[in-house]
Amino acid sequence: MKVVVAGGGIGGLSCALALARRGHGVVLLERAARFEAVGAGIILAPNAARVLERLAVDLASVGHPLDVLNVTRADGCVLQRLDLVTLRATQGAAYSFARPELHEALAAAVGHARGIDVRFDAAIASFVASAVGVRVTLASGDELAADILVGADGLHSTVRTALLGDAAPPLRYSGVTCWRAVAEGLGITETVEAWNGAARIGAVPLTRGRTYLFLVRSAERRAPAPTWPDGFRDAFTGFGGVLQGLVDRLGSAPPLHHDLEELDRPAWGAGRVALLGDAAHAMTPNQGQGAAMAVEDAWVLADALDAAGPSGFVARYAAARHDRVRRVQLDSRRFGAVAHWTNPVAVALRNALLRATPEHLGRAQYARVVEPGLALLGADC
Ligand SMILES: Cc1cc2nc3c(=O)[nH]c(=O)nc-3n(C[C@H](O)[C@H](O)[C@H](O)COP(=O)(O)OP(=O)(O)OC[C@H]3O[C@@H](n4cnc5c(N)ncnc54)[C@H](O)[C@@H]3O)c2cc1C
Repeated sequence: MKVVVAGGGIGGLSCALALARRGHGVVLLERAARFEAVGAGIILAPNAARVLERLAVDLASVGHPLDVLNVTRADGCVLQRLDLVTLRATQGAAYSFARPELHEALAAAVGHARGIDVRFDAAIASFVASAVGVRVTLASGDELAADILVGADGLHSTVRTALLGDAAPPLRYSGVTCWRAVAEGLGITETVEAWNGAARIGAVPLTRGRTYLFLVRSAERRAPAPTWPDGFRDAFTGFGGVLQGLVDRLGSAPPLHHDLEELDRPAWGAGRVALLGDAAHAMTPNQGQGAAMAVEDAWVLADALDAAGPSGFVARYAAARHDRVRRVQLDSRRFGAVAHWTNPVAVALRNALLRATPEHLGRAQYARVVEPGLALLGADC
């Protein structure tokens, strides 16, 4: 079958690999002049990592295996500790990556796969779908025909808008804004996310001693950024432990700044046009599962196409994905809200509850997120 995949992000590249593995011919359209990973770092939980490894992506050579995920108070006191070393025996490693390096590993796997034709400077502009196929028009005016189209073109998906128009789920501002950076020489060896009311800082060790940082705070949509460094010092004051004096240790303002938006609810496509990844279900990053869900989508979509053919695959794919993704999306939204509580009584209760929760319950909770993804691979050989 001939498939056009629009978008060369983590979702589109995974989808191209999953389809090519099953013998389909893929034209991957990327609007940029080359693969570009926007963002500083990323964590891939085992559910995504195992799928990508099955798709022949070499994660181990670019990823940093994580041993632990800690949630702490601002002063560094640990509220919740997730021991990933224990989970590794059953789930395999969770990795952190510098985003460009993960993208290079994905692109290398695409380069080695048979049947994937990558086209850069190729923005999809519109399409016409019928009962027998899809005709795609690029911004350049070029046209191409395919049996099906997959829109993996991100949060502001052209394919989603063209397909659903006013019926498309709206974007939803999460109430928080986020700065990201990769820093050298901070000496942070364990992943930590520290909560301090309206402010939250995360630090994730990467390969070669680097640290991926995210600084998040509650803010109006498009609020002006604090000044550097004084405004940042004020906005992210009161952090101790390994994050003590972080703003001063950074040297310059974090280069990436985004208001965090999500899609209000998932949309999976219709007829011969499917949506995947952020185009289908952009979610807040609070559970570190947005890209992981895109990778799982890719695997399931390829299965659905083989099982139900080009006319039935979207319904099958949506049925297989909706409940799982919606749960993760809503859990992520709730987790973010709880992390930014400011009421002192609520915060004290939350912190006491987290500290009293035995570690094995935290591991069980994480397993409930990860294991359905691992189960996708179970029947495959
Ligand atoms: C702050 C932050 C931290 C995060 N941390 C994590 C994490 O730790 N773990 C995790 O699993 N997830 C995380 N996520 C979520 C994750 O980044 C996304 O879910 C994931 O990158 C989405 O991939 P995608 O391929 O669906 O979309 P995108 O990455 O947006 O890729 C879309 C691609 O489509 C291209 N494109 C757009 N329009 C067109 C067009 N018209 N024609 C052709 N191409 C087009 C774009 O150039 C781009 O290459 C985080 C997100 C944020 C914002």
